Amino acid sequence: MEMETETMELREVLSYLIQHGEIETGSPAEGIARLVIGKGSDEGLTPKQRHIYEKYAEPFFNRECRLCHIEMPTCEIIGALENGGYCSSCNKMLSNDD
Ligand SMILES: [Zn+2]
Repeated sequence: MEMETETMELREVLSYLIQHGEIETGSPAEGIARLVIGKGSDEGLTPKQRHIYEKYAEPFFNRECRLCHIEMPTCEIIGALENGGYCSSCNKMLSNDD
Protein backbone atom coordinates (compact mmCIF):
# COMPACT_ATOMS: atom_id res chain seq x y z
CA MET A 1 0.00 0.00 0.00
CA GLU A 2 2.81 2.37 0.87
CA MET A 3 4.32 1.77 -2.53
CA GLU A 4 1.16 2.97 -4.20
CA THR A 5 1.14 6.17 -2.19
CA GLU A 6 4.75 6.81 -3.13
CA THR A 7 4.00 6.20 -6.78
CA MET A 8 1.07 8.59 -6.62
CA GLU A 9 3.14 11.26 -4.90
CA LEU A 10 5.98 10.84 -7.38
CA ARG A 11 3.59 11.29 -10.29
CA GLU A 12 1.93 14.25 -8.64
CA VAL A 13 5.21 16.08 -7.99
CA LEU A 14 6.59 15.43 -11.48
CA SER A 15 3.34 16.61 -13.07
CA TYR A 16 3.47 19.74 -10.93
CA LEU A 17 7.08 20.41 -11.96
CA ILE A 18 6.15 20.14 -15.64
CA GLN A 19 3.00 22.24 -15.31
CA HIS A 20 4.78 25.01 -13.44
CA GLY A 21 7.82 25.09 -15.72
CA GLU A 22 10.21 23.86 -13.02
CA ILE A 23 11.08 21.22 -15.61
CA GLU A 24 11.37 23.02 -18.91
CA THR A 25 8.66 22.24 -21.46
CA GLY A 26 10.06 20.53 -24.53
CA SER A 27 13.35 19.67 -22.83
CA PRO A 28 14.70 16.12 -22.65
CA ALA A 29 14.04 16.34 -18.91
CA GLU A 30 10.32 16.78 -19.59
CA GLY A 31 10.27 13.68 -21.79
CA ILE A 32 11.99 11.66 -19.10
CA ALA A 33 9.77 13.03 -16.34
CA ARG A 34 6.75 11.95 -18.41
CA LEU A 35 8.32 8.53 -18.86
CA VAL A 36 8.71 8.21 -15.08
CA ILE A 37 5.12 9.39 -14.58
CA GLY A 38 3.99 6.69 -17.01
CA LYS A 39 5.99 3.96 -15.29
CA GLY A 40 5.39 5.30 -11.81
CA SER A 41 9.05 4.79 -11.03
CA ASP A 42 12.49 5.92 -12.13
CA GLU A 43 13.64 2.34 -12.47
CA GLY A 44 14.47 1.15 -15.95
CA LEU A 45 15.80 4.46 -17.22
CA THR A 46 18.86 4.20 -19.43
CA PRO A 47 22.05 5.62 -17.89
CA LYS A 48 21.73 8.69 -20.10
CA GLN A 49 18.09 9.24 -19.11
CA ARG A 50 18.97 8.71 -15.46
CA HIS A 51 21.70 11.31 -15.65
CA ILE A 52 19.20 13.88 -16.93
CA TYR A 53 16.58 12.83 -14.40
CA GLU A 54 19.08 13.15 -11.55
CA LYS A 55 20.12 16.58 -12.72
CA TYR A 56 16.71 18.13 -13.38
CA ALA A 57 14.15 16.26 -11.33
CA GLU A 58 15.83 14.69 -8.32
CA PRO A 59 16.98 17.96 -6.73
CA PHE A 60 13.28 18.66 -6.05
CA PHE A 61 13.02 15.40 -4.14
CA ASN A 62 15.98 16.06 -1.90
CA ARG A 63 14.96 19.42 -0.51
CA GLU A 64 15.37 20.47 3.05
CA CYS A 65 13.02 22.78 4.87
CA ARG A 66 14.59 26.25 4.95
CA LEU A 67 13.81 26.63 8.62
CA CYS A 68 14.13 23.29 10.42
CA HIS A 69 16.25 21.57 7.75
CA ILE A 70 14.39 18.29 7.83
CA GLU A 71 14.38 16.49 4.52
CA MET A 72 11.02 17.13 2.91
CA PRO A 73 8.80 14.08 2.46
CA THR A 74 7.53 13.70 -1.11
CA CYS A 75 4.00 14.67 -0.08
CA GLU A 76 5.23 18.09 1.11
CA ILE A 77 7.32 19.05 -1.90
CA ILE A 78 4.53 20.79 -3.80
CA GLY A 79 3.54 22.73 -0.68
CA ALA A 80 7.15 23.78 -0.18
CA LEU A 81 7.45 24.97 -3.78
CA GLU A 82 4.38 27.12 -3.21
CA ASN A 83 5.26 28.52 0.21
CA GLY A 84 8.89 29.36 -0.47
CA GLY A 85 10.57 26.22 0.83
CA TYR A 86 9.10 25.35 4.21
CA CYS A 87 7.80 22.04 5.52
CA SER A 88 4.15 21.93 6.51
CA SER A 89 4.74 22.40 10.24
CA CYS A 90 7.10 25.37 9.80
CA ASN A 91 4.75 26.90 7.27
CA LYS A 92 1.88 26.52 9.68
CA MET A 93 3.89 28.11 12.45
CA LEU A 94 4.98 30.99 10.21
CA SER A 95 1.50 31.68 8.91
CA ASN A 96 0.05 31.69 12.44
CA ASP A 97 2.68 34.14 13.54
CA ASP A 98 0.84 37.42 12.96
ZN1 LIG B 1 10.45 22.90 8.69
